[in-house]
Formats: sequence, structure tokens, C-alpha cells
Amino acid sequence: MKNSCFKYIIVGAGTSGLHLIKSISEDKFFREKKILLIDKSLENNEEKCYSFWEKGKGKWDKIITKSWSNGYFISKDHLINLDLKDYKYKMIKSIDFHKYVKKCISSHNNIEFIKDDVINIRKENNQVIVVGNKTNYICDHVFDSRIPNDISLNNHISIKQHFKGWIIKTDVPKFDSKTFTIMDYRIRDIDKTAFTYILPISNKKALVEYTYFTKELVDSKEYDLKLKKYIKNILKINNYSIINEEYGVIPMTNYPFFNHTKDRITKIGTAGGWVKPSTGYSFKNSERNSKKIVGQLKKGVTLIKIKSKLKYYHMDKIFLDVLEKNNWFGEKLFSLLFRNNTTNKIFEFLDEKSNFFSELKIIKSLFSIHFIKSFLRHLFTGLKAN
Ligand SMILES: Cc1cc2nc3c(=O)[nH]c(=O)nc-3n(C[C@H](O)[C@H](O)[C@H](O)COP(=O)(O)OP(=O)(O)OC[C@H]3O[C@@H](n4cnc5c(N)ncnc54)[C@H](O)[C@@H]3O)c2cc1C
Repeated sequence: MKNSCFKYIIVGAGTSGLHLIKSISEDKFFREKKILLIDKSLENNEEKCYSFWEKGKGKWDKIITKSWSNGYFISKDHLINLDLKDYKYKMIKSIDFHKYVKKCISSHNNIEFIKDDVINIRKENNQVIVVGNKTNYICDHVFDSRIPNDISLNNHISIKQHFKGWIIKTDVPKFDSKTFTIMDYRIRDIDKTAFTYILPISNKKALVEYTYFTKELVDSKEYDLKLKKYIKNILKINNYSIINEEYGVIPMTNYPFFNHTKDRITKIGTAGGWVKPSTGYSFKNSERNSKKIVGQLKKGVTLIKIKSKLKYYHMDKIFLDVLEKNNWFGEKLFSLLFRNNTTNKIFEFLDEKSNFFSELKIIKSLFSIHFIKSFLRHLFTGLKAN
């Protein structure tokens, strides 16, 4: 450590921390400013597949594993072809993302990356003290991706997206590498929102992931059972090898994480509420929010809390409420969404960039007894809570 006083400290070199440091490193404005990135681990050996959608060319195109212009949504009664038009669905391996960002920042002398376990962060006068296991660090502003220990989800709508995925390899061509499957509900427990997600990397290799959107987690054996069943009965594959396995639990909640952001201490990533409650996606949000933060830092304004517009907050809340209260209804709900709206309108809506008319169309398309009940229940409480 050359000096433990910094302009900015980023705690956590995970998805949000790396997006933020990358955005900062790209801007000349920060060249003279000392910045510290701290993580409790310097290694990232776990290979995860991150996916996201975006229009046309993007910032990570150099390192993406694969992208798709077409997809499927499959329910028990419908097979829907998804034409992404000007969008692309992209997959990036976490290892490639980490390596790439770390390599990019390694040439910046003003940025240090160290290993330490951050135990506490507190504000003292006009500075922030970041208390690490090894030593203390001082800065003007900290960006913190640690999830607070004291959050209580009891008074909020909250389910979990939990999944296990296998990258499987076959000897003979078995996959249509041009088309991914966002959700396939043909194998599921009747009382749960659960589906298979497939990203074919080539005609002999694919990520096959079994995903639940439920209140409670399930036993590890459940995912294995479903994956085996899907591969055998739906994909009709008998011989394959598993070359990688991933497991994840992502919160899907309307908990106001952004309220943990305080003067000089900005929460980022999951801890800052950057995970879209109704989908669990956060990769692209991390890119967008990092850009917003950089813009605000350059203007020298007090950082504003990053949160969804009220209408999207409300829609997420209703969506989660339907899934929490009538978990079996998820297949029907997503089926209504994909059957009655084009994929690009759905993506615009989920990216919170839709216009009034497409929002109205989407809401109308979801009208069903459970959706209407949740809609009415939260019409007013939703407006209050944000
Ligand atoms: C297998 C898997 C697949 C996924 N697929 C997708 C996907 O396809 N699309 C998508 O959008 N999202 C996906 N996600 C979710 C996504 O990874 C998370 O939403 C995202 O990583 C959250 O970013 P974050 O920065 O908040 O947390 P993380 O990425 O978890 O980073 C937090 C970092 O903080 C560090 N840290 C924690 N505590 C301390 C401490 N006390 N001191 C120092 N450092 C600390 C950790 O070591 C870690 O590096 C997936 C998740 C998993 C597990």
C-alpha cells in the first residue's frame, strides 16, 4: 500500500464493482484521482455465465462467448418464436469479464487493487473510514457492494431466483446454436414457477439451467433430477458430459436497498438495488448505473440514490406479488407476456425505457384474475412505498 488515503474506494470486485471501476478508468477526468478497489478475494475461479440483452453493438462484444437474435418461449400449450429484431441476447463468462476488466485497469497507476476483508465502513467528518481486516483506508467517497447484514425482507414482497446450470457437451450435434430458450415450462412442479433455460453455445455444447422463482430454496438433488429429466425427455440426449456446473440464488424483492445509501457511502450492485426485481437480471443495470455515477461524479453533484421510476417499481411489485401469492401461476403470467407482446417491446419495458402505449399494452396483456387482484392490492401501497 503506497498511501491509505484515496479519492474513491470501491468495496467488492464483483459485477458492480468491476463495472464501476471500468467506467471510471475509461474517463480522463479520473486519471489524477487515487482509487482503491478492495475485495476479500483476488481470485475468480468460479465460472458463471452472465447474460443480458442490448441493442446492437455493446461494450463487452470483444469478450462475449455468444449472442443470439432468436429465441423460444415454451409453455405447456405454446411455443413462441422470439424475434429480437435490433436486440441481441448475449452471454459472457464471468472469468472473461473479470480478467478483461482487471487487465484494462492494470495499466492505470492511479488505481490500486488489493485483497482485504472489509469489516466496517463509517463516516467521520468529511471522510469515510473503511475498516479492513489488515488496515484502515480513508477516502472521500466509498462505493460498497457488501449486502447489509441487518436487512429484513419480512415487510416486503420477496422471492428467490435459484438455479443450477450445467454446460453439457455431446459427441454429435444436438443443439440449434442460433436459438436460445428463455423459458421452457414443459418440466416443472405443478405448484411452482420453474422452468429450463438453454443457451446453446454450439451445436454440441449448451448451458442447460433449471430455474425456480420461489419463496423457498429446494434441495440440490431437485435441480439434478429436473436437469436429467429435461435432457433425456425433452432434448432427447442420452450421452453427454457435464463440463461445468453453476449455482446461484438471486433476490427478487421490492426491498428498498437504495435506502442504505448515505452521504459519501453509496451502495452498489445487489446491495444498491441494481437487480431488477421481476427478472433477477443485473449485469446491464450495473453498466448503466456505473455510467450514471461517473456522470454525477464529474458534475460534482451529490450522488442521487439510483432507483426505478415509480411506474416500474409498481409493475415489479405487482409481478412479484402474483408470483409470491400464486406461485403456480408464473407459467401462465409469462406466457401472456410473451404471447401478446413483441420481444423488443418486452425488453424495452424491462429496461425501463418503454413508452406509455406499450406499457398499457403490456399491462393489458397480463390481465388475469391473479394479476388484477395484485394490481388492485398494490395500486396505492406501491405509490406510497417508493
Ligand atoms: C451462477 C450465476 C449466474 C448468474 N447469471 C446472471 C445472468 O445471466 N445475468 C445477470 O444479470 N445476473 C446473473 N447473475 C447474478 C449476478 O451475478 C449478480 O446479480 C451480480 O453479481 C451482483 O453483483 P454485485 O456486485 O452486487 O455482487 P457480486 O458480483 O457478488 O460481487 C460482490 C463482491 O464483493 C466481495 N465482497 C463481499 N464482502 C466483502 C467484504 N467484506 N470485503 C471485501 N470484499 C467483499 C465479494 O468477494 C465479491 O467479489 C448470476 C449469478 C450467479 C451466481
